[in-house]
Amino acid sequence: MPQYPESPLMGQMMSQPLLISNIIRHADRYYGKSEIVSRRVEGDIHRYTYTDCHKRSRQLAKALANMGIKMGDRVASIAWNGYRHLEAYYAVSGSGAVLHTINPRLFPEQIAYMVNHAEDQYVLFDMNFLPIIEAIAPHCSTVKGFVMLCGREHMPAASKLDNLLCYEELIAASSDDYEWPQFDENSASSLCYTSGTTGHPKGALYSHRSTLLHSYASAMPDGLNVSARDTVLPVVPMFHVNAWGLPYSVPLVGAKMVFPGPAMDGKSLYELFEQEQVTFSAGVPTIWMGLLTYVAQNNLTFSSFKRTVIGGSACPPSMMKTLRHQYGIEVVHAWGMTEMSPLGTACTLSVRQAALPEDAKQAILEKQGHVIFGVDMKIVGDDGRELPWDGKTYGNLLVKGPWVISSYFKDEGGDVLEDGWFPTGDVATIDADGYMQITDRSKDVIKSGGEWISTIELENIAMSHPAVQQAACIGVLHPKWDERPLLVVVKKPGAEVSKEELIQFYDGKIAKWWTPDDIAFVEALPIGATGKILKNKMREQFKDHKLPIA
Ligand code: AMP
Repeated sequence: MPQYPESPLMGQMMSQPLLISNIIRHADRYYGKSEIVSRRVEGDIHRYTYTDCHKRSRQLAKALANMGIKMGDRVASIAWNGYRHLEAYYAVSGSGAVLHTINPRLFPEQIAYMVNHAEDQYVLFDMNFLPIIEAIAPHCSTVKGFVMLCGREHMPAASKLDNLLCYEELIAASSDDYEWPQFDENSASSLCYTSGTTGHPKGALYSHRSTLLHSYASAMPDGLNVSARDTVLPVVPMFHVNAWGLPYSVPLVGAKMVFPGPAMDGKSLYELFEQEQVTFSAGVPTIWMGLLTYVAQNNLTFSSFKRTVIGGSACPPSMMKTLRHQYGIEVVHAWGMTEMSPLGTACTLSVRQAALPEDAKQAILEKQGHVIFGVDMKIVGDDGRELPWDGKTYGNLLVKGPWVISSYFKDEGGDVLEDGWFPTGDVATIDADGYMQITDRSKDVIKSGGEWISTIELENIAMSHPAVQQAACIGVLHPKWDERPLLVVVKKPGAEVSKEELIQFYDGKIAKWWTPDDIAFVEALPIGATGKILKNKMREQFKDHKLPIA
């Protein structure tokens, strides 16, 4: 990290480190009675307050210290959005250790890889993930114990694991006379792996400082716009980029928090929105599709829901219009990435733009939006030269800022910055008012339901089949999941293999939902001048391809 010179005259204000524990202490002290409501994996609704959450977070921090967890140690979580997961957010990071949030939808081998790479000491998990834990445990050499996030009554009578612990017992056995330690704000706080297009997943290692600055900035009116007058339901999972920072920014402003747990279907979400009078939510487009279908089918309306942030993949304009015009819900289109904590831009209108005709306003709102202060962005050509902000010229999008990654955990991938800027891998335009729009992404990963599928992994497996000469995978539009994989295959001369055989070939090699939906056989793939397959050409060729809908 660069060092900056000191001035001969330094400021004389208090120097207080920006620490994650400050947030929960603040929420307890100033918004102690604000509620946290959770739909639990157990099936019931749990409610308590920020004061309760702070108390139990300190008890957990003390328990972790007794278990030998020290500053910088990694503790993993594999859990849905819920109050116990929130306690882990504060207890682990607040005590100086690092919370490694893991996506349970990944294949067990990938999870085991990440646990080993991160050298996790303990893994906290929701009880419905016990089968995953039992599958990975023999391969996780650094893990001293697996902590099931439940009470004794839900612990299994028998388990393959000899180091299985009960979360509620750990909390009960631990007092709350625990003082949050003070340390350098640049210390690591949490770790989230991003699945790259090549090789293994790489870890984005956030710091207390980056997290606090992101929390302040993202809460601003032209960001997520959360305040003490809101009831917030984060649909975006706490196992992916810290649920866009909401577990920090919501307690920071003292808003009521509502966690959906594992029940992400339209009906369960709608019930929670209405029962708890949710005003604000955030998530990927797929989730809103399920909720809107349920609401339309049952002729329902929202009585409190006012605003939602949609990002993670492009929000379809039709969805934005339905939410705005039919239900009166303001939609803020946002863009970011794991490497950016994640928020980079959000799309809200200035006074001047708000006075424009409806069509012109809608056209702006469909863009990914304006940076929030702290993030700087630019578009460059392949030669690295900055391109104009005319809303038409597109180029590689680069960003910088205090919550943007400077290098991956354990320096995987080496030096990732270009002249101090992080290349996002996205291709975008920027207009004269500074509104950015993603036109494409240079990486070829497929986004299915807001989750990534690595095309290279799918291709490598296909190419290990004896009848396959060449294979390339692209995303094809899907009505429910946004995109699904289509595998395009060139067979070896004289060799035979059917679609069904190839699809079956994936069984047991990857997570089931990664399996290509369809296979197309071709004579040859389009190859560019440097010998690379031209996936943009393939996308054009297969743009009207109809996937078999299961
Ligand atoms: P992740 O790190 O998994 O959050 O994925 C980040 C990537 O998702 C970005 O680099 C974009 O390619 C894509 N992305 C995120 N938000 C949007 C959006 N609003 N529109 C289009 N693509 C998006």
